[in-house]
Amino acid sequence: MRKLTILGATGSIGASTFKVVGQNPTEFSIVALVAGTNVEKMAELCMQWKPKYAVMATEQAAKALQVVLAKLPVKIEVRFGVDAMCEVSAFDEVDTVMAAIVGAAGLLPTMAAVEAGKRVLLANKEALVMSGQLFIDAVERSGAELLPVDSEHNAIFQCLPASAQIQMGRCDLAKEGISHILLTGSGGPFRYSDLSELESVTPEQAIAHPNWSMGPKISVDSATMMNKGLEFIEAKWLFNAKQEQLKVLIHPQSVIHSMVQYQDGSVLAQMGEPDMATPIALTLSYPERIPAGVKPLDFTQVGELTFLAPDYNRYPCLELAMQACYEGQHATTSLNAANEIAVAAFLDNAIRFTDIARINHHVMSKVCATNNHLHSHDLESLLDLDRMARVIASETVREYSR
Ligand code: NDP
Repeated sequence: MRKLTILGATGSIGASTFKVVGQNPTEFSIVALVAGTNVEKMAELCMQWKPKYAVMATEQAAKALQVVLAKLPVKIEVRFGVDAMCEVSAFDEVDTVMAAIVGAAGLLPTMAAVEAGKRVLLANKEALVMSGQLFIDAVERSGAELLPVDSEHNAIFQCLPASAQIQMGRCDLAKEGISHILLTGSGGPFRYSDLSELESVTPEQAIAHPNWSMGPKISVDSATMMNKGLEFIEAKWLFNAKQEQLKVLIHPQSVIHSMVQYQDGSVLAQMGEPDMATPIALTLSYPERIPAGVKPLDFTQVGELTFLAPDYNRYPCLELAMQACYEGQHATTSLNAANEIAVAAFLDNAIRFTDIARINHHVMSKVCATNNHLHSHDLESLLDLDRMARVIASETVREYSR
């Protein structure tokens, strides 16, 4: 039986994780649940899953949760703050950690799980984007088992030979006979919109993803294709890929979730319904397979599968992230921080959709002009850089605010 801590339990990935656990109740036990401030949802989950620990981001949220739980017939220890999140990720009684807090807030708890040598199911791509080599070095040092949850990386993982699957962050793609990783993306809700209409896109329109149901931040990232950019960076680190080995393809139907192209001309693809329960199930059960509660793909209903190259005029954030990826850690950390601030401002109706790319570009250029010496082999300097980029991004947001 796997013993789980779920970071980001109240979110969309959290929900899909419970769906898989619910399908296989004898295979898993829930030791700890972690969330931000959504007390109502956390109380519901505590009632249903009866973890030993529930951790909230703030003292206020933890107190409110305690009040609700006190009225219920469950005995759960409630804690709060980042240190508590790190503790429940590293507990001896936990062997598997779902890393699904959104954004940079997930870095320290995810790192704690890595350093404790757990099986780490990585959904929180921002943690890897902002810490890169440091993260991969920690995996190697601790012997943690890193498994990608992101549907594209999970698909690529499934198309790799077993010898590469057990070497996340360190595999040699060329030696495995691989020529390219083909990272697919739907292009989001505005792939056919007139470019002139993008200025006036609303948050409601941006989060209405045509194929996937996800949290608000990643949904906006999908609309700008910054999500694919972050995934490009994530793929570089997970698969130890050189720039020329990584390609992005638009595939509007989201039936193929990514592909691996071999030197002999073969292309392996992973397909399925767009449901995160599938990749989550694989990471929970690897190397075995368990039911995920996902309906089988009906090829008679799939219709046409199409592919096209990304248009960087439509998706400037994607181009920016691809540039940042091989520029260095200072570039990816600052871009990730800027994007979190810009997306939050857009969701708050403070800036326009198209300002997200402008702000990201401005912050990244400014940070890179002064901090390009950073090769960040310690977490503190990365966190300093992240904080600095957020200050510049917040100032820039104020300049763009209506
Ligand atoms: P959601 O917005 O749905 O959920 C975010 C989760 O993070 C919530 O549980 C939230 O808690 C928690 N959280 C936010 N801030 C903090 C904090 N400071 N401390 C602790 N917990 C916090 O996001 P998703 O589930 O969509 O995405 C989660 C991660 O997975 C992201 O990194 C995303 O890129 C990645 N991912 C998501 C996919 C998807 O299909 N949704 C696909 C692939 C990757 P609360 O509810 O209390 O605020």
